[in-house]
Amino acid sequence: MTRTAFHYRNGVLHAEDVPLDRLAEKAGTPCWVYSSATLEARYRAFAGAFAGLDALVCYSLKANSNQAVIATLGRLGAGVDVVSAGEMQRALAAGIPASKIVFAGIGKTEDEMVQALDAGILQFNVESEPELRLLSRVATKRRKTAPVSLRVNPDVDARTHAKIATGKKENKFGIDIAQAPAVAKLATTLPGIALQGLAVHIGSQVTDVDPYHAAFARIGDLARELNSGGHRLTRLDFGGGLGVVYDRASNSGAPPALDSYAGAVRGALARLPNGGRGTEIVLAPGRWLVAEAGILLTRVVYMKSGTAKRFAIVDAAMNDLIRPTLYEAHHPMRPVTEPASPGTEIVDVVGPVCETGDFLALDRPLPPLRDGDLLAIEVAGAYGAVMSSSYNARPLAPELLVRGDTWAVVRPRQTVESLIGLDRLPPWIKPARPKGRNRAPTKKVSRQRNNKHRRRKG
Ligand code: PLP
Repeated sequence: MTRTAFHYRNGVLHAEDVPLDRLAEKAGTPCWVYSSATLEARYRAFAGAFAGLDALVCYSLKANSNQAVIATLGRLGAGVDVVSAGEMQRALAAGIPASKIVFAGIGKTEDEMVQALDAGILQFNVESEPELRLLSRVATKRRKTAPVSLRVNPDVDARTHAKIATGKKENKFGIDIAQAPAVAKLATTLPGIALQGLAVHIGSQVTDVDPYHAAFARIGDLARELNSGGHRLTRLDFGGGLGVVYDRASNSGAPPALDSYAGAVRGALARLPNGGRGTEIVLAPGRWLVAEAGILLTRVVYMKSGTAKRFAIVDAAMNDLIRPTLYEAHHPMRPVTEPASPGTEIVDVVGPVCETGDFLALDRPLPPLRDGDLLAIEVAGAYGAVMSSSYNARPLAPELLVRGDTWAVVRPRQTVESLIGLDRLPPWIKPARPKGRNRAPTKKVSRQRNNKHRRRKG
């Protein structure tokens, strides 16, 4: 991981060995471009940080659920963390064995529980007492036993964006740590439930290691307390959330190094009898594995100057990448043609969607751009394509995966026809006729047509 997969070569930004201008020409813009080498390097580095432990890295596929991305990580041994039956189906379709699937999420429905029980997943992360009771009923009815970890809310501030902080007791996630012992006791009395462990996830884009130390220590202590009270918890799921560097220029909000993060996990294990030997651990990173592996490639449609601002109007928009407007997120960006000089101008990079909130960057110093230039919006592999919508009837952009000097379309561009085709007219609205034939015939004309038709048949 010494050199990013996206780098200038001969004056052109490349994804691994493929020039991005060629991809833009072949696949059109906007499009997502992912690097296999980065995906693989990130997975190996992450898994390597937990060497010596009985650890399963379960990629949190909400970050990027493209089949090719899941399969790339799955081939290296990754399991997955899913939050819906749809994600579980995506994982199974990409070849992840059920025995490596963790089902998290606060609102699992009965139907989703049935699907996951039938698939035989590794673990349900249960987030409330009513969920536990429903899972018990569903499992019993199907004569199955549900392997369960209780997701505990440790009441720790992850110091991240409010919309992605999950570890405070005001947040909807997990079982309040004060209530966890009672729910654990209940779990042992309910039929169809096998309580195996505890889980925790304090938030996403976490850039400070202290909240991890605090949360993991609480989970370690709780596991020790429960086990000394007669439980047999053998698995701890430490969730995900490790942040990445978005603002390369200032390097502000740099996340802890992997070793430091892994140190918080090892610290929690050290609080268990035997130093945690015999405890299986699950890690559920999403963003850390895939963010750096992807870019959103876009083309400048117009450069526009007002009296207050200069705008780069590009063909990607908030419907493609919603993070800047939803989370005030900063994404680094570079022109595909390497700038000849270091000069910059301050621009708002905006899309064509009819919302003032449709921007990809505000007041950003960028090398001078011209109409038609290509721009790579970087660190966009996580929570990018998965959060896209077709707002303004903009079809979903294609996804491409690069491997060395080859590449493949791993999701084609959606067509407007397929978007329209999702809709249905109610029976009281007649379908529109193709152009030129959209005038309803008069009664006289239609009578004549009918008679002609009858005559022909007769
Ligand atoms: N695990 C759970 C339960 C989550 O909700 C999330 C995301 O919010 C993750 C793992 C992955 O988080 P991240 O992509 O920040 O690593």
